[in-house]
Amino acid sequence: MFKYIQTSGKARRGTLKTAHGEIQTPFFMTIGTAGAVKGLLPSEVRALGGQIILSNTYHLHLRPGEDIVAKAGGLHKFMNWDGPILTDSGGYQVFSLAKIRKLKDDGVEFQSHLNGETIFLTPEKAIEIQMKLGSDIMMVLDECPAADADRTYVEKSLKLTTDWAKRCQTFFIKNRRDAPWRVSTNPSGLFGIVQGGMHHDLRKQSAQQLVDIGFDGYAIGGLSVGEPNATMYNMIDATVPHLPTDKPRYLMGVGTPQDIVEAVERGIDMFDCVLPTRNARHGHLFTSQGIVRIKNEQYKNDFTPLDPECQCLACTQFTKAYLRHLFMAKEILSLRLNTLHNVAFYLNLMKQIRAAIENDRFGEFKKEFLDNFKV
Ligand SMILES: [Zn+2]
Repeated sequence: MFKYIQTSGKARRGTLKTAHGEIQTPFFMTIGTAGAVKGLLPSEVRALGGQIILSNTYHLHLRPGEDIVAKAGGLHKFMNWDGPILTDSGGYQVFSLAKIRKLKDDGVEFQSHLNGETIFLTPEKAIEIQMKLGSDIMMVLDECPAADADRTYVEKSLKLTTDWAKRCQTFFIKNRRDAPWRVSTNPSGLFGIVQGGMHHDLRKQSAQQLVDIGFDGYAIGGLSVGEPNATMYNMIDATVPHLPTDKPRYLMGVGTPQDIVEAVERGIDMFDCVLPTRNARHGHLFTSQGIVRIKNEQYKNDFTPLDPECQCLACTQFTKAYLRHLFMAKEILSLRLNTLHNVAFYLNLMKQIRAAIENDRFGEFKKEFLDNFKV
């Protein structure tokens, strides 16, 4: 499934095969929370260089429900995206969005943030939903402790996460080939999620336990939850040496362009984050020169392109002054152009990262990038 071609320091350049095509690594997954990248057509995501979309199990389970998606022939057909799709397990949203939740050994009970309905999510149910969506890469159900959780809590949580990972894998193996309700004809991959809070030894323990169970790839979860950047990089360093070199490594929910560059340098292959799409809607734009807050007065009379190095529609056909005007006037086109640009920026960054590894100059690339990128 995963093949790595070349390294530059610890940075890795490879390919990841899925039933819906091969992905060049390292890569960034654009977020399509409810089966749509907010404001963009699937064909636009593809044209910008998007290789894979991430959709959220929690949101799709609540609305429209996985049975409707399955009836449509799976999420690929439903949303008209023929590339790979990764789905999360729903766990993170249960812990961050649901109104009331009760953690039990066999799962988590929560109330829908939409209508208050009580739902019980088990490790098995999380996989069943993802199989009905027809996901290419599925994630195990885990519990993500808060950044400031004490060690006793993190130890207990880690035990639960490992037990759930094992149960997810057992259920996945049992049902991937012949369950009558599954959508994809090609069995997809299942990834484990390393937890362990901000403790080196617990991160190592978690990684080793997951590797013993055996997954198609390994994610590092529970980071970028409010801890300082240095702690996050530290935890990546504490985890990566305990992961197999022949499986993809996925840093969940990260991050800023700087975080991505730092993590690639530490051997990470996969990323997802709401930043490019969410920040676009707030007029917070990523450019090769750094962050542009488009509503700022200084752009009122600025008739230059947003990012001269970007080939997207927002940058090649419009000026900063016009983008600012659209944002101030709350035009729908503002959301569209800002999103197009931010997604283009992230996907182009990944393209540059891959080229730098191919040319074995990732270290130099990182330095140049960080020198130019002003926050
Ligand atoms: Zn652009």
